[in-house]
Amino acid sequence: MCSSDLSFRDHSGRSLGEEEIAELTEVIRSGALSFLTGKKTAAFERGFADLLGVREAVAVANGTAALHTALIYLNPEPGDEVILSPVTDIGSAIPIMAQLAVPVFADVDPATQNITAATIEACLSPRTRAIVVTHVFGAPADMDPILELAARRNLFVIEDCAQAHLATYKGRVCGTMGNLGCFSFQQSKHMTTGDGGMVVSNEDMRFGRALRQCGDKG
Ligand SMILES: *Cc1c(COP(=O)(O)O)cnc(C)c1O
Repeated sequence: MCSSDLSFRDHSGRSLGEEEIAELTEVIRSGALSFLTGKKTAAFERGFADLLGVREAVAVANGTAALHTALIYLNPEPGDEVILSPVTDIGSAIPIMAQLAVPVFADVDPATQNITAATIEACLSPRTRAIVVTHVFGAPADMDPILELAARRNLFVIEDCAQAHLATYKGRVCGTMGNLGCFSFQQSKHMTTGDGGMVVSNEDMRFGRALRQCGDKG
């Protein structure tokens, strides 16, 4: 929390210090700034995957890019529908439209501000392909009924965890319950790299490799 006010322009109280300066110095001295030859991005991916207990983690430019990577992986037909929450960042909706799918906004539970299996079910149509579940303000959505509905209707589940790093639902970490989990490391989030994003998956290696291609020009 910022110390003097709630403006995100107030950078006081942030836990950036000598450790981060040493890491940056190491990168600059190595001369390898890109993920292609640098070592830090791969280490970050491995460390984040281990932290969450998932098999795959693919680092991308930001949270919107993480969600876009997930949508590219989904590969909807033009006009397919993707259900999402209206209480989220615009970065949850733009990737759906960028892949020529139609965002369909489900109502939120007034108490939690998250979409629920019941509000999602009210939006289902023959064109529904996927659900983007935002865990808003760090509070996980009620995932068990959502996962049950998704399994019954053969829907792909993307968790938007941009506000829910390491939040847990019944002992499971957000981002590990659906098919893909998407994170943002933008400076206003709980964990930051300034800007940055990550897509995680617990699926098998074949799936992971394809996901990596979706995150880097196919
Ligand atoms: C911040 C945020 C995003 C987008 O992340 P960026 O890194 O800003 O692109 C997406 N979804 C939610 C819920 C967010 O809070």
